[in-house]
Amino acid sequence: MLRSFLLFGGVLLTAATALSIGLHRSGKTDLFEMFAPMPSVDAAFNRGFHSDALLSVNAQRQINQVPGVKVDQEIQEFLSAFVQEQRDATDIDLDDVFDSLQAKFPGAQYLAANLVTAPTRAKLLDALGKWEAVDSEDFSHLTTKVFAEGRTLGALGVMSRRLPKFSIEAANSYGGKFFNRCPHCQKVHALSIDKKARTLILSCPDCRKPFDVLASDTKGKVRRATDFMSGFAIPRNQQIIGAQSDEERILAIWQQIASQCKYKHDQNALDAYEAWKDPEETWEQKSGDCEDTSILLADALISEGMEARVAIGWNGNIGQHAWTVVKTQGGVQYVLESTFEGPITYENLTTVKDAAPFYQPEQLFDRQNLYFLATTPERGGSDYYSDRVWSKLDVQRQIVRSQQSSPKVVSGSKVTESVVSPVDG
Ligand SMILES: [Zn+2]
Repeated sequence: MLRSFLLFGGVLLTAATALSIGLHRSGKTDLFEMFAPMPSVDAAFNRGFHSDALLSVNAQRQINQVPGVKVDQEIQEFLSAFVQEQRDATDIDLDDVFDSLQAKFPGAQYLAANLVTAPTRAKLLDALGKWEAVDSEDFSHLTTKVFAEGRTLGALGVMSRRLPKFSIEAANSYGGKFFNRCPHCQKVHALSIDKKARTLILSCPDCRKPFDVLASDTKGKVRRATDFMSGFAIPRNQQIIGAQSDEERILAIWQQIASQCKYKHDQNALDAYEAWKDPEETWEQKSGDCEDTSILLADALISEGMEARVAIGWNGNIGQHAWTVVKTQGGVQYVLESTFEGPITYENLTTVKDAAPFYQPEQLFDRQNLYFLATTPERGGSDYYSDRVWSKLDVQRQIVRSQQSSPKVVSGSKVTESVVSPVDG
């Protein structure tokens, strides 16, 4: 009996009553079954049943050339608690099971639940094996909970495949596919990390807003953009020490970096397949491309007490690009083209308004925060510091919150793929 059938790649709810099927088929009541003593359905019984279920299901899957399934321990605990709460477990509403599973395990990419009942353990096992989901390669785990209700044995079975929760640590240790909760709209989506792309701007497939900027460092480790701003300070020369204004200080720092770091002109654009360097690496190796020198310049400016950010976006002449922006105490914002090799003079100091026709920022970051456009890209270029133009995502706070809060019920059963836009070279 198929109770309902929802599909987002493999959502299946079924309930089968093996007892009535068995009686119909045999045409007479099995007296042995009627008078056989009921087994005590305890933890050991459950373990034994599950182990036999795995053996028979995996034998079946092997014939069909589908990889075997395992038990999902967390779903196991969930099922035990769920069945215990029921007044009559034979009357479990599979939609309730399903909704609770989805709420508790938002990373469940594929999920199927089934309730089977039978008069004996053997027939229960047999009924579970006839469930079509047990043969499907969409699932990687089979979890069961057996119960007794009067003279009836029942099993609540769940076939599942769960994605791990996204974190930088998880991306580094096993890469691949994850689930993630959008910090803007709170919806859950799947996320796959392309290890070959070194610059990753992650966007939510539901609200379309970008929510993270990741990059691979020179050792191949995936890190958040803010993490590259390591607090580096360049040596203080006479120009920096003797600067009388913010403008003089900016020029002195910029000049020192421009004369220290060479630049390859064929690497003008932000290259999606190139690793990001830490500011000390760029300084010591005396070379870097646009994001490397922008990070070095912004970090060095912050170390001298300035308010600086790295901008990632579009340059009309270059394409995808990265540059530095700085705000003086007087509130003047300048775009600093970190790839200039110098000499750096007052003529290179371009206000954001003058730079706006050529520089369209899409994401900004400093040592603490990522900033995403809250308005059209055209407005972003004329003000890099307004809260109305840029929404701040406090990376530290976001991590703490996701560890503390329990997930909300996910409406619908859809886990959509996150949009990862590798930046074109
Ligand atoms: Zn969203």
